[in-house]
Amino acid sequence: MSTSHSRFTRRKLLENGMTVAAVGAAAFLTSPQITGQPIQSPAIITRRRFRAWISRGDGRGRTTLQDVTLRPISGRQVVVRTEVTNLCYSNATAVLGPPNAPAAPAPTSVLAAPNGARRMNDMAVIQGHGGVGIVEAIGPEVRRVKVGDRVCVSGTPQCGSCYRCLRGRSDMCQFLSAIGADDLEAIADLADGTPVFQNSHIGGLAELMVTPEEWVVPIFTTADLVGVGMACSCVSVAGLAAATSPNLAPVEPASAVAVVGCGPLGLSAVQGARIAGASTIIAIDPIRVRRELALRVGATHALDPNVERDNLPLKVRELTTWPTDRLWSGGRNPAGRRPGAGADFVIEAAGADQFAPRLEAGPDPSGIQPMQHAYQMCSLGGHVITTSLVRGNITLPGNLFSIGGVTHHGGQAGGANPMRDIPRFVRLMETGQFDAKSLATLVVPLSQMLDAYEQVAYRATVTALMTV
Ligand SMILES: [Zn+2]
Ligand SMILES: [Zn+2]
Repeated sequence: MSTSHSRFTRRKLLENGMTVAAVGAAAFLTSPQITGQPIQSPAIITRRRFRAWISRGDGRGRTTLQDVTLRPISGRQVVVRTEVTNLCYSNATAVLGPPNAPAAPAPTSVLAAPNGARRMNDMAVIQGHGGVGIVEAIGPEVRRVKVGDRVCVSGTPQCGSCYRCLRGRSDMCQFLSAIGADDLEAIADLADGTPVFQNSHIGGLAELMVTPEEWVVPIFTTADLVGVGMACSCVSVAGLAAATSPNLAPVEPASAVAVVGCGPLGLSAVQGARIAGASTIIAIDPIRVRRELALRVGATHALDPNVERDNLPLKVRELTTWPTDRLWSGGRNPAGRRPGAGADFVIEAAGADQFAPRLEAGPDPSGIQPMQHAYQMCSLGGHVITTSLVRGNITLPGNLFSIGGVTHHGGQAGGANPMRDIPRFVRLMETGQFDAKSLATLVVPLSQMLDAYEQVAYRATVTALMTV
């Protein structure tokens, strides 16, 4: 490559026919000899208009479709033209507004965002947390992607250089800690000049996402929207990672796995367990169609917690004595003070109800009891991986917790390492090992997002994808 200034011209940027603004020369001081790769052309697009679902205010009907105008980008920012995004249950209240019968307030958590100068509900915010799309423009410091790349905008960033990333826990990347109201940067403006922000710096419920590059994962695939949208969704990434990520406790071949909660995350975990070679996979969910779907995508057994009630951990133990309960023959006894039976790996993916389900409700809307049962159905010496958002504090039998040998693995996004795992999950989808299409039970265009989100919120569909 020449070192002439021609590399820094705006010629490539004009290919998209967009208005282009120059940036200052200071942005280009980084030497390609130092970075090991040529500096990419700056692609600073401005005044691009796009449609976005804007959430603002405290009540129902807080989200409306509006035309907004993109602000100039800089530094490590990437503009992604959204192709598909998933409608995550965790975002339902933020999109739809609080349900008519509000849930009890959650206890204060050390993980809660601190109160700041701004209040999120007063800001115009594009909800969602990621999706799949095509890179339209990049800031001058971006290295990870090029214009035209297909990318997953991950719900979890991975900077690669913070304390947590360097210790192999990219799911805890510290860039995720700066997503409070005061941390967000405006990326666009409403017609009246009101600044527009994005949930977690990424949004998704819009024709464009503007995000720092640590949230962007190139995926190099031509797979169809439903397949790639599902495989790259926050829920499938978390479920597949919970079963396979070396960051937590990857499922071993021929092991017994229980998955508590079979929404899109749990159903992805069922598939991750199948892909990892588990021989017994017990799917647990109150909703019949979800249990049936779990059996279709890899579960060997399905249990209804409304039928089993407090007997659920014992029932799992009974199903995990295979092939024998004879102790002198390598067997697992289902009863006694030190039973050998129980799931070797339990993946908990139930979570609290944000809205009262229209299909079968579970035994505990706070999500606490499923988490307790998950711990109690685990084999002594086994592993519990928790993934869900519950409402309240959890209590466990003290001696089981202390000397039961159960190792709890808490992780964000199932312990996923986005740059390593998301391309891997896309390959699993492309090779047919991960059945993405069965999980995407509702696919709607951008204009029908709100109707689809209602169905997600009331658990009337497994999950939904919005295509743009
Ligand atoms: Zn999510
Ligand atoms: Zn990091």
